[in-house]
Amino acid sequence: MYDFLIVGQGIAGTTLAHQLIQKQLKVCVIDNNPSSSSSQIASGLYNPVVLKRMKKVWHADFMLETLLPYYQNIEERIDRMIIDSNQVRRIFNTPEEQNNWHTLVEDPNFKELLAKGIEENNNNTIAAPFALGRVLQSGRIKVKEYLKGSKNYFIEQHAYKEDEILYHEIHAENDSISWKNFHAKHIIFCEGHQARFNPWFSYLPFACTKGEVMTVRSEANIKHPLNGGKFILPLGDDEYKVGATYNWDELNEQTTEEGLNQLKDGWSKISSSTFELKQHSAGIRPNTKDRRPFLGTHPDHPNVHIFNGLGSRGILMAPYLAQCMVNYLLNHDYLHPEMDISRFNED
Ligand SMILES: Cc1cc2nc3c(=O)[nH]c(=O)nc-3n(C[C@H](O)[C@H](O)[C@H](O)COP(=O)(O)OP(=O)(O)OC[C@H]3O[C@@H](n4cnc5c(N)ncnc54)[C@H](O)[C@@H]3O)c2cc1C
Repeated sequence: MYDFLIVGQGIAGTTLAHQLIQKQLKVCVIDNNPSSSSSQIASGLYNPVVLKRMKKVWHADFMLETLLPYYQNIEERIDRMIIDSNQVRRIFNTPEEQNNWHTLVEDPNFKELLAKGIEENNNNTIAAPFALGRVLQSGRIKVKEYLKGSKNYFIEQHAYKEDEILYHEIHAENDSISWKNFHAKHIIFCEGHQARFNPWFSYLPFACTKGEVMTVRSEANIKHPLNGGKFILPLGDDEYKVGATYNWDELNEQTTEEGLNQLKDGWSKISSSTFELKQHSAGIRPNTKDRRPFLGTHPDHPNVHIFNGLGSRGILMAPYLAQCMVNYLLNHDYLHPEMDISRFNED
């Protein structure tokens, strides 16, 4: 008998599974190994500041506390380097943007997050008319490596099964769950946007968004992740990821001409270098209407749980939220009301 069946091996399911296994729990992760998913195409950036609005991410301080210790521990566990701590630079397009930065740097709330002073732009292919600001405690996790290395690790631990879970094959009793020949005390759905079709959780107000990214080869010689409307992320060997688009209406994983044009424009606004298109992908982010995650237990089924709603910031949020979820499941700790799905329960 397993303690937990986890449905989905995206960023959410992977992070939760690692933390449960670390507590010596018997876990099995079931994933249908899709060719593309939000996690598979994510750029992996973590950034505690919403650069468009110059606001701190919700619960950013807690997230930063758990972020690097967690991923460092995973590097050892899966024996792969997945952390790239090259910090994000924000391009200032106007004097106001630059002034705003100078003001925020003095704000005690941002002191630990924004580097003092500005950086001159030394790359003449980059348009940064009013220089650049550096976001401290930002960087990137190599998501594909994280997921692939973790999958291998789960296989070694006899904690992985490649399969598609069909909802009608799940039998939820009061104190156990069965699916095919698997029996567990609990099931946790970490299905990303596909939870919209889950009969236990489709009532939750998701507001998923489609996103497109492209990978290009260029001699732009960009050294740091750059945010200037769209972002450009150096991958090494003259390759860059450029993202991302947001579309609320067309929820499918097909790439579009319009998306590609937006990405190409985004590149051209930042860099005058030419580029060769290598790859173009689309995925669906599990965003939520109130912009808060979905953690907790089904109101009528005490052993059916959800860990979802990581939206556009799965890499930053997952380690902290998984810690909250584990403490909730194992110690009955309180879940913050803004993350607990009981906020949607009818009285
Ligand atoms: C273009 C784009 C760029 C992004 N860039 C970033 C970024 O730079 N930084 C960042 O932090 N976030 C980024 N994100 C957001 C990030 O991708 C998400 O926050 C994160 O991937 C959500 O992970 P998840 O595990 O909840 O969902 P998913 O990635 O969707 O994973 C769910 C998994 O469950 C599987 N599954 C679902 N149902 C079943 C079933 N019934 N049976 C078996 N398996 C099932 C799916 O196939 C999938 O493997 C980006 C997203 C997009 C689209």
